[in-house]
Amino acid sequence: MPARISRGNVRINPKYVMMDETRDRLSLEYIREHYNLTPQKPLIEPRIIVLHWTAIHSFEASYQTMYPSVLPSKRKDIASASSLNVCAHFLVDRDGSIYQLLPLPYFGRHVIGLNYHAIGVENVGSDTLPLTDEQVASNTALILYLLDKYPEIRYVIGHHEYLLLEDSPLFLEIDPAYRTIKSDPGDAFMKKVRKNLNYQYDTGRLKKINR
Ligand SMILES: [Zn+2]
Repeated sequence: MPARISRGNVRINPKYVMMDETRDRLSLEYIREHYNLTPQKPLIEPRIIVLHWTAIHSFEASYQTMYPSVLPSKRKDIASASSLNVCAHFLVDRDGSIYQLLPLPYFGRHVIGLNYHAIGVENVGSDTLPLTDEQVASNTALILYLLDKYPEIRYVIGHHEYLLLEDSPLFLEIDPAYRTIKSDPGDAFMKKVRKNLNYQYDTGRLKKINR
């Protein structure tokens, strides 16, 4: 049985990425070009939590990848869509330490179609470096904290499940060709996190995704 996690007990270490005018400008541009929305500020309306793995095997390298506002030139696969760098709101290290990379509710680019409504949680790991029990516990605690903070949140999904929300009103991408296939963070991790969540939270308010 998973350990009960105290909801007031989540420790979040602020470690913001570069927050500059370029990030503001590129974020607003992304929201306009991909979602056809023109907010005054690059802020999101949180409805979904999306879990990821970084596919990079160290905390520092993962952090450095997300730090700049501008996408590094090697990301040719997604560069044509925007030069805003990819970044989640949180990064969880192998030992379960939680770092906050973006202030909430600032916009983050981490999941096609859903960024305007999604809080992103990255985890240091990959298909060859499976996520740890400590990361399962910390993701659970962080999700509980976010569900308290944002009562409008209705979904907790893995990045590999994002296309299941393609028909949802929360999916805003206007370019039907802009899709990538994702495998992170995998079914095994999502199963553990969901089991944990069900055990300690009345998940009735969360919508199930049909798989
Ligand atoms: Zn991902």
